[in-house]
Amino acid sequence: MAKTVLITGSTSGIGLAIAKTFAANRYNIVFNGLEADGEKIATEVAAKFNTAFLFSPANLLDKGAISVMAESAIRKFGSVEVLINNAGIQYVSPVENFPDEKWDDIIHIILTAAFQLTKAIWPVMKKNKFGRIINIVSAHGLIASANKSAYVAAKHGLVGLTKTLAMEGADFGITSNAICPGYVQTQIVEKQIPDQMKLHNMSREDVIQKIMLAGHAIKEFVNPESIAETAFFLADNPASKFITGISLPVDGGWTAH
Ligand code: NAD
Repeated sequence: MAKTVLITGSTSGIGLAIAKTFAANRYNIVFNGLEADGEKIATEVAAKFNTAFLFSPANLLDKGAISVMAESAIRKFGSVEVLINNAGIQYVSPVENFPDEKWDDIIHIILTAAFQLTKAIWPVMKKNKFGRIINIVSAHGLIASANKSAYVAAKHGLVGLTKTLAMEGADFGITSNAICPGYVQTQIVEKQIPDQMKLHNMSREDVIQKIMLAGHAIKEFVNPESIAETAFFLADNPASKFITGISLPVDGGWTAH
């Protein structure tokens, strides 16, 4: 029987690339995201790969909506074998001007929602004696950059949650791992380019080369498919059975120095 993967923020960017990889490998997909055409995107991916799917427009700021998403997924597919906490937002500002509401939203979407959704899916994984939790963190879960206080704090927190779940899941066949991408050219990055241009008084190309890719040893954006294939390895390759509690950089060498 086909396994089921639930991926938050999977109607855009990295999450969408992950959904396509799992769909190509015949998983049932639970899509989630705030894109206005999210349902259409989900329908097209599922049709292309001839796989079953559910689209949930749950806003991760809403605890009730998270519960409904988890319950609907389990009701429709009987189980969720793989949970990928991927959704995220960014805001760039020096700490003294950082808006309180942006801090709250970033911490909530990246960290609190991952906790709440894991809590909702955990019992079915425990019952099945199998589960794969994969948190799409960031190199910013391991190192910091200026002007990203909320994001860096949330991502470091998610590394901590990842490790704790690895400890708690070990007796139940549940592994928990984080993937830490470097810069990937998606909406979240495109949206911060104008802010960085203003903040540093730089051109778009200079922001990309001198701010974003400055830390990468490989001076290119990471492609979303590399993150998707890494997630699939952690979820489905027998060799990953003993990999738990790690934070795996896929970052062009950014965190190596
Ligand atoms: P993206 O903006 O293309 O995708 C983000 C997804 O999250 C979208 O589908 C969006 O609708 C969803 N989302 C945001 N707020 C939500 C909410 N309240 N409720 C439900 N869904 C919500 O960006 P991406 O680059 O694909 O980001 C995916 C993850 O990868 C994020 O956690 C991000 O922090 C992480 N990441 C990205 C990069 C990068 O350079 N792009 C690097 C490291 C880590």
